[in-house]
Amino acid sequence: MPHHPEISRVAIIGGGCAGLAAAATLAERGISVTVFEAAKHLGGRARSLEWSGTYLDNGQHILIGAYRETLRLMRLAGVDEANALLRLPLQLIQHDQFCLQASRCLPAPLHVLHGLLRARGLSRGERFAALRFMLKLRLSRFHLSHDLPLADLLARHQQPQRVIRCLWEPLCLAALNTPLDRASAQVFLNVLRDSFARGKHDSDLLLPRIGLSELFAEPLANYVIAKGGAVQRGTTISAITRHDDDYALVAGDATHHFTHVILAVPPFRLAKLVADLAPLAEIARMCDSYDYQPIATVYLQYPPQIRLPHPMLGLAGGLSQWVLDRGQLNGQAGLLAVVISAEGAHMHMSQEELADTVANEIARAFPDFPPTLGRKVIIEKRATFACVPNMPRPPQQTPCPGFYLAGDYTVGDYPATIEGAVRSGIICAEKILDSDTINPHPHPCPASGRGNNTRDPC
Ligand SMILES: Cc1cc2nc3c(=O)[nH]c(=O)nc-3n(C[C@H](O)[C@H](O)[C@H](O)COP(=O)(O)OP(=O)(O)OC[C@H]3O[C@@H](n4cnc5c(N)ncnc54)[C@H](O)[C@@H]3O)c2cc1C
Repeated sequence: MPHHPEISRVAIIGGGCAGLAAAATLAERGISVTVFEAAKHLGGRARSLEWSGTYLDNGQHILIGAYRETLRLMRLAGVDEANALLRLPLQLIQHDQFCLQASRCLPAPLHVLHGLLRARGLSRGERFAALRFMLKLRLSRFHLSHDLPLADLLARHQQPQRVIRCLWEPLCLAALNTPLDRASAQVFLNVLRDSFARGKHDSDLLLPRIGLSELFAEPLANYVIAKGGAVQRGTTISAITRHDDDYALVAGDATHHFTHVILAVPPFRLAKLVADLAPLAEIARMCDSYDYQPIATVYLQYPPQIRLPHPMLGLAGGLSQWVLDRGQLNGQAGLLAVVISAEGAHMHMSQEELADTVANEIARAFPDFPPTLGRKVIIEKRATFACVPNMPRPPQQTPCPGFYLAGDYTVGDYPATIEGAVRSGIICAEKILDSDTINPHPHPCPASGRGNNTRDPC
């Protein structure tokens, strides 16, 4: 295994998917890193939490077969995909409304086109309109000369209302977490390109069967520690300054010095942390200008015999968008997770009102279901950045030497997703590995009490 002792003092601030992907990539290449995570739990926006003697996730996450880097790192960290994820060939099923199932026999992209042609719930004309659109996108290699809101692109391509409602809107909300009239058409096409038009299994849905922390964050952290790295939970970095050849990171009373830093915090935490690094002022302003979108998850506990007809089911006509059966997925019998992506009227409701509304929608869809036994609402107000056309995104490499940015918001062609975050972390790690920086300090991860740092913008 290659070893790079000269760049062994690497700090990663943030133990979410991006930070841990960077840490594992460096660990794999023989560099021990120190990860600082402010929360007690790792995983950031993809984490599990305890509830009434069981665990929930902060939001139901769906992965797809095209998440190559995420799946590779999970394997590297010893996660058994068959045990951790339920892999289903692409299927979009909206209760009593619509059903699209990709062909299991045909290669990409024919498997999806075939699914579109046979989709139930659309007229022949509607199916052909969707098919024509997909073929045009493929001819243009899923590339637009100018980005625009997805709603405008769909109107230009004369997509019927029902196709929009049953197909494009649910896909847009699931992938971009941004309403159609604000969502970037180009980023949406990037997702279609990667999931529908490359390998047949790229469009597979991968539904977690274990808690999110166990799926990604904890195995990667264990891998990093096994390779000689450190993961410090409950450690908030409050300031970063540049000193000669290294960076001083302040955490409580301690100051830690590192030659390389990967800042893997969400964009709304960036400005304060880089306030002393003058060359990053423009990036801080850019991140401060972002707008965010929420995701609400309503967990409803029914008696254990209650099951949905499918592990994942769409609902139309109300607030509830997707319902996941945690009994079929995670062995939590009778527990349903109802997902509401992006902004909407529900954001003005109290948690009780929201839980009541969603429970009533489930009762209308499944009149045989008994009343709920328990309810829990989790709202992530800044779940993802609003993925709007031409959104500026900072590169991973910054003007400060040895200082990198990782996170789902950094340059890349994906929306805010696990895979986008993971890829950004890997890019940062590779840039460090490719750099020829000589570190004058031989000791890994020193902590000192040096408190009053001189300000030396890089
Ligand atoms: C409810 C919900 C549902 C989602 N569904 C999906 C889905 O189905 N599929 C999908 O691919 N993606 C989904 N996402 C998006 C995905 O979770 C995120 O894109 C991804 O987790 C972002 O990872 P990150 O590492 O960039 O940021 P984060 O996860 O935000 O990680 C940043 C970390 O930095 C830490 N931190 C912040 N400040 C400091 C500090 N000063 N010092 C130390 N640590 C600090 C934070 O505590 C956090 O752990 C969903 C997100 C949410 C919220």
